[in-house]
Amino acid sequence: MKFIVVTGGIISGLGKGITASSIGLLLQSLGFSITSIKIDPYLNIDAGTMSPYEHGETYVLADGGETDLDLGNYERFLGVELTKDHNITTGKIYASVLQKERNGDYLGKTVQVIPHIVDEIQERIIHVSQIDVGFGTPDICIIELGGTIGDIETAPFVEAITRLFSKLESHTFCFVHVSLIIEMHGESKTKPTQHSIKTLRSLGIVPNILVLRTNNMLDDDTLNKININCGVNKGNIICNVNVPNIYCVPDLFKKQNICDKLVKILNINNNNNYNLEDYYKILDHFNQNTNKLRVGIAGKYVGLQDTYLSLIRAIEHASFNVGVQIEIIWIDTEKIEKHQEEYDKLKICDRIIIPGGFGLRGIEGKILVCEYCRTNKIKMLGICLGMQVMVVEYARSIGYKDAMSREWAENGFYIIDMLPDQTGKMGGTMRLGNCEAVVNDDIVEKIYNQNVIMERHRHRYELTYNNSLIFKDTDMVLSAFDKKMNLVEIVRLDNHPYFIGCQFHPEFKSKYNNPHPLFVNLLI
Ligand code: GLN
Repeated sequence: MKFIVVTGGIISGLGKGITASSIGLLLQSLGFSITSIKIDPYLNIDAGTMSPYEHGETYVLADGGETDLDLGNYERFLGVELTKDHNITTGKIYASVLQKERNGDYLGKTVQVIPHIVDEIQERIIHVSQIDVGFGTPDICIIELGGTIGDIETAPFVEAITRLFSKLESHTFCFVHVSLIIEMHGESKTKPTQHSIKTLRSLGIVPNILVLRTNNMLDDDTLNKININCGVNKGNIICNVNVPNIYCVPDLFKKQNICDKLVKILNINNNNNYNLEDYYKILDHFNQNTNKLRVGIAGKYVGLQDTYLSLIRAIEHASFNVGVQIEIIWIDTEKIEKHQEEYDKLKICDRIIIPGGFGLRGIEGKILVCEYCRTNKIKMLGICLGMQVMVVEYARSIGYKDAMSREWAENGFYIIDMLPDQTGKMGGTMRLGNCEAVVNDDIVEKIYNQNVIMERHRHRYELTYNNSLIFKDTDMVLSAFDKKMNLVEIVRLDNHPYFIGCQFHPEFKSKYNNPHPLFVNLLI
């Protein structure tokens, strides 16, 4: 097993995740089996309780893990299926150590950060790195260390990694540090990077490769300066210049021969035979001047696109498949009720998606969006909360005027309700991860090309089979069921070109070379 550790300096948001997944994609294309671990130094057990305003979307894994959005980058770029253990947080480490303490496992010892916390981290890294994520036993594990080097929270993780480094054979580790070169007065300023490398070295990590975010490729003078002051070979400095989209990054790295450097440091054989056919098709797609479709996303977090990261990627993946360019139109469902100009944005959209969401705010705006799409026969997809709104709006239109979800109102006819097993306790208690559904509708079966589907969930409220009986002999077709739980998983409106709601999150399963059929068929 080899490890590539990706750390970040100076500021957050430099694209460590994209750097790590691009490296993974290139190495995978050379035939290596790749896995990845994301370390998040926060105290939360997982990302499930974190606000999307603060932290971007919560990504949901097949096993129900609620994780940082970077795990989505890995699954999408590498086609792997990760588990909740692939996201290590300070919260998980402490929870486990404290449980062991309560069990008396430490035999009377004083429990301390060193050695107990640091040992727990090392054990987890070793164990998780060996899990088969879909391509056999992994050859290389990419570890992304969240936060920036020097943060108090990252210290135990850095310590654990340096201990593993000194314990394991040489050439087991490659350290990649992502930093920023600031352009000022026409000069490339390297000082902040110098400082962050100084901090990294003081913690016991000597970076092998530097990935530098810059506006332009760095000139020789700047490279020399970095080499002299940071002790990193000029040849091991990769420029991560601004590119039009994230799909350009692996190509950018490949052109700078990053894999040659990585395999040399890790002392592994490289046949130099890249298999990147699928990947290059995507780069071609962006160069083609095809039709542009305007896809409206009607939600309440429209100011923060990281909240809908997987959704945007899933739309992109489908657009590669269908051969259209996409323009996203952001529609703020809180504004839509009161501001005509926000409502009018609906009229320029060729397709509309209501994504998942929580709480009451913006709900009546979403009801208006559903009504607009239903009555004007605009193709629309409702995801999770989106499906619940579609169902409520339709129920109201056929006479159930006080139709509601229990989540949005103190009283009403709760067509969307909470199951009795929901206790109101937070943190990993929703219906989460993969659940099987049986498709019961020819049109949806044709979309999926199969009649038993497995999709990822993250919600507390449901359309139960009993409540759905009001749609008997109406245009609302109940297209798929969770037979075990007696729940409706997909609804579709007859006499409409595409009006589909799904109780799960198809965006978490979409891959660039394997787009999700619900998005592909929305765009067609
Ligand atoms: N808030 C809704 C529920 O909990 C929908 C959740 C979602 O869209 N992910 O059921």
